[in-house]
Amino acid sequence: MLRTVHVSPLAGHRDEETIEWSQLASATQQARDRIGARTIWNVNSTATGGGVAEMLVSILAHARGAGLDMRWVVMDADSEFFTITKRLHHRFHGSEGDGEPLGPEQDDVYRRVTTRNARELSTELKPGDVVFLNDPQTAGMVPILARCGVHIVWRSHIGTDRANAEVEEAWQFLLPYLREVDAFVFSRWDYVPPQLADRDVTVIAPAIDIFAEKNIAIDDDHAAAILAISGLCDGETTSVPLFYHADWRADIVTRAAEMDQDEPAPLGDRLIVQVSRWDPLKDPIGVMRGFTDHVAPVVGDVRLMLAGPSPEGVSDDPEAAQVLEAVRVARADLDPAVRRRVHLACLPAQHHSESAAMVNALQRHATIVVQKSLAEGFGLTVSEAMWKRRPVVASRVGGIQDQIDSTINGVLIDDPTDLPAFGAAVVGLLADPVRAAAIGDAAHDRVRTQFLGSRQAIQLMALTVRILGR
Ligand code: UDP
Repeated sequence: MLRTVHVSPLAGHRDEETIEWSQLASATQQARDRIGARTIWNVNSTATGGGVAEMLVSILAHARGAGLDMRWVVMDADSEFFTITKRLHHRFHGSEGDGEPLGPEQDDVYRRVTTRNARELSTELKPGDVVFLNDPQTAGMVPILARCGVHIVWRSHIGTDRANAEVEEAWQFLLPYLREVDAFVFSRWDYVPPQLADRDVTVIAPAIDIFAEKNIAIDDDHAAAILAISGLCDGETTSVPLFYHADWRADIVTRAAEMDQDEPAPLGDRLIVQVSRWDPLKDPIGVMRGFTDHVAPVVGDVRLMLAGPSPEGVSDDPEAAQVLEAVRVARADLDPAVRRRVHLACLPAQHHSESAAMVNALQRHATIVVQKSLAEGFGLTVSEAMWKRRPVVASRVGGIQDQIDSTINGVLIDDPTDLPAFGAAVVGLLADPVRAAAIGDAAHDRVRTQFLGSRQAIQLMALTVRILGR
C-alpha cells in the first residue's frame, strides 16, 4: 500500500532572512489562483533518510500553510526493487554499484512494482492534478498516471558531471518510461541527458529550510546539552537539551545515538564531522583514512565523527547496513592510538525530530564539517553546515561545486580520492581559526542568497503555474 506522509501546514511567512520576500508572496498568490482546487501530489520512495525526504517535509509544510492542497505519498516496494533502484542510483552517479545487470529481468521487477503503485495512486487522482515524481524509483509510474489526465513532472535529484557508460546504461533503462512526462526538473544542467534536449527541462537547485529542526538556530549551550544527552559527546552542561520544531513548539531530546567508539568525545575537544547516509559514494572509509593518515599525525587534539542514520531508518537504501558494517570493521582495524579519536554515530532516524536536532547540534558544534563524497547530486549537508557558519571541506563533485566557491566560502578538493589533499585542507583550517571563521561567515551569506527554501518554492510554483497554463 502507498503510504501517505502527513505534514502539518505551517501558516504565515517566516523566511525573514530571504531577499525574495515580495517575490515569494506574489508567486504564492499566482500559484493559488492557477492551482485552485487541484491537488499537487509528490511521490518518492522513503519518508525518512536522505535529502529528498528532507525537502519534501518543508515544501509540504509551506505549501499547505499557503492554502495549497499538496500531498506526499511514499511508494510501497520490497528489497528486491530497492536493490535494483540503488543500482540505478549508482549508475546515474557514474559508478558501477554492485556490478549486477540492469536487464530485462530487472526491468520486469521494476515495471511490476511501479505499475502496482501507479494503479493505486490513480484511484485518488483527479484530472488536472499535478504529480511530482521524484527520482528513478518513481519513473515507472508515468505510463499509468499519464492515462489519468494529470500533469506529470519528473524531478531527478541525482546525476554526475562526467557522463560515462554507467550513466548511459541507467538512462537506457529509464528513458522508455519517461515519454509522457510533461516537464523535467534537474538539479544541474550537467545532469540532463542529450536524449531530453528537446523536452521541457528546468533546473532547480535544492534548498534548505532554515526553520526546520535541523537548521533552526540553537545556542552553543543547548547544542552541547543535546550532544551530551544523546551520547554523541561527553561533558557537563548547564542547559537542558531543548530544541524547536518548525512550528516553534519546544521539545527535549531524550533518545540516544548508537555509538561505536573507544571513549566518548569530550565536548571540549575539536571535532571534524561528516553527516551522511551509509553509502559508498559518501566514502566514509576514505574520510576515516584521510583523517587517520593525514590529519591525526599532524594535529594532536582533534577527533573525527562520522554520523549517519540507523540503517533501518532508511527504507529505500538496502546497502546501508553493509556499508556501516564495513566502516565498523575498518575502524576496528585502526591502531588503538588513533582509533580512540574516531567515532561512529548512528542517529535514531525513525524519530525524525530528535534525529534532526542531533544533526543540528553536531553541525553547529563541529570545528570543521567535511563532505568528501565521490559523487553527489547536490549535497544538502553542505548547505546545512554552511548556513551554520561552519568551514566545509568537500569534494569538487556534482552540486557541491555550485554551493562552495573554493577558499572563499569553503574548501574544495579537486580529486575526492586525494587523501593527502583532503588532509592538508583540514589541517590548514585547523591551524588558522581566523580564516576558518571568515570562510564560515562567507558560507552563511552564500546559502542565504542562493539555497534557501523560498527560492526553491518560487521556482517550483512558477513551473506549476506554467504547465497548468498550457
Ligand atoms: N541526514 C540526517 N541524518 C543522518 C544523515 C543525513 O538527517 O544521519 C540528512 C542530512 O542532514 C541531509 C540529508 O539527510 O538533510 C542528506 O541529504 P544530501 O543531499 O546531503 O544527501 P543524500 O542522502 O540525499 O544523498
